[in-house]
Amino acid sequence: MTGPSSISINIPVTNKPRIVIVGGGFGGIQLAKRLKGEDVQVVMIDKNNYHTFQPLLYQVATAGLEPDSIAYPLRKIFKKQENFIFRMAEAIKVDPARKVLETSIGEIPYDFLVLATGSVTNFYGMRDMERNAMPMKSVPQSLDLRSLILQNLEAALLTTDLKNLEGLLTFVVVGGGPTGVETAGALGELKNHILPLDYPELDIKKMRIHVVDHGPRLLQGMSPSASQKAEEFLRKFEVEIWLNTGVVAYDGTTLSLSNGKTLLTKAVIWAAGVAGAVLPGLRAESVTNGRRLKVDAFSRVEGYENIFAIGDLACMVTKDSPQGHSLLAPVAMQQGKWLAQNLGRLLRKQPLRPFHYLNLGVMATIGRNQAVADLPLVKVQGVLGWFLWVFIHLMTLVGFRNRMVTFVNWVFSYLSYDKGIRLIIRPFKRGQSPVDR
Ligand SMILES: Cc1cc2nc3c(=O)[nH]c(=O)nc-3n(C[C@H](O)[C@H](O)[C@H](O)COP(=O)(O)OP(=O)(O)OC[C@H]3O[C@@H](n4cnc5c(N)ncnc54)[C@H](O)[C@@H]3O)c2cc1C
Repeated sequence: MTGPSSISINIPVTNKPRIVIVGGGFGGIQLAKRLKGEDVQVVMIDKNNYHTFQPLLYQVATAGLEPDSIAYPLRKIFKKQENFIFRMAEAIKVDPARKVLETSIGEIPYDFLVLATGSVTNFYGMRDMERNAMPMKSVPQSLDLRSLILQNLEAALLTTDLKNLEGLLTFVVVGGGPTGVETAGALGELKNHILPLDYPELDIKKMRIHVVDHGPRLLQGMSPSASQKAEEFLRKFEVEIWLNTGVVAYDGTTLSLSNGKTLLTKAVIWAAGVAGAVLPGLRAESVTNGRRLKVDAFSRVEGYENIFAIGDLACMVTKDSPQGHSLLAPVAMQQGKWLAQNLGRLLRKQPLRPFHYLNLGVMATIGRNQAVADLPLVKVQGVLGWFLWVFIHLMTLVGFRNRMVTFVNWVFSYLSYDKGIRLIIRPFKRGQSPVDR
């Protein structure tokens, strides 16, 4: 148990086992909630004071939703949980030998440490992409992207240089997974329904949207029929799709593709990959090539008895998931709930139960009335898939207020073909580091 003398920051002293959770994401929240009845002290730290509903970040970036519809204060989630303490801080390093977590506010001793830090954008070592492309992994990044899109449109009205105009009106999404496809669809909607009214002086037909993916089809994690349908939906928006194509270089104006083509663009949206947000201090052997932590069937990080990892960060190899589970919110949520039960068993000296993922399916939406969903028993596409997508996202948003605000926004957009939030409140300046924050 954690001794009072070892506590170096202001966290109440306790004789109860202390479970430190790093990350108030999908996994961390479920874990902390389910520990409510346990005789433990739960300390959660997160670098933000809110939870981010990442699946809808692209809607913030494309002016469909305000950030406060998809972010929710962590303290509010746990306001009635007596065994819960929150500190806003960044975890810096784990010191397993001393059972201490080093953070931006000091050291936190733990009895059990659960790492639920999710993932960070992976630029695969391409420095120019890191410098010039726009990631979409956090609320500030989505707001930057929203500003950039709107700023480019404003600038397009001012220029008489045709090459500059082309760059300002060309939007390239790198990555044809669900995030890339959904972002391209949302840009298509903006182009078709909203921008012609907002910018009547602009020849909006000149706006071009591209999706670039190095794989042979879009949505590679989904069924071939979902890929085909998604491509069909995107082509309705005149999105140009470059498959079997990688990006080679980007200087902020010219994007070079592996097929030899170049695109003039001042907005490259990076939706091409993530890596686990691994903290320093752990054995190198416990980290996979994809920078996730190797965990056993009980989510214990390989080589450690009392350090666990869940969600995007954890690579749990099973018969059904030889590369580890997909990086999806339901995986993190199920692991969080299940680990809470297992930690309870551990404290009661009962045998632990291995994790089994209940596959709930995968889905992606491509503009209004158009979605693809691969569910465990059936594949749904088109309007039905879209209503299902809307329903599931509304139900999984954290907080009643957020669900209501989002619902009202979506109904308004659906009926009016409009989106309400085309504001450049915090102008984006190129050169500002687009690192994950
Ligand atoms: C744009 C986008 C779209 C997506 N769309 C979907 C979708 O449609 N469906 C789906 O199922 N999944 C989707 N995902 C994936 C899904 O969001 C993740 O799988 C899920 O968030 C993982 O949950 P987690 O708990 O592991 O981590 P996260 O939810 O990422 O939470 C990690 C938390 O840790 C905190 N943190 C990280 N590092 C530190 C540190 N050093 N110190 C303190 N705090 C830290 C972060 O602030 C964050 O709150 C999407 C992801 C993105 C980025």
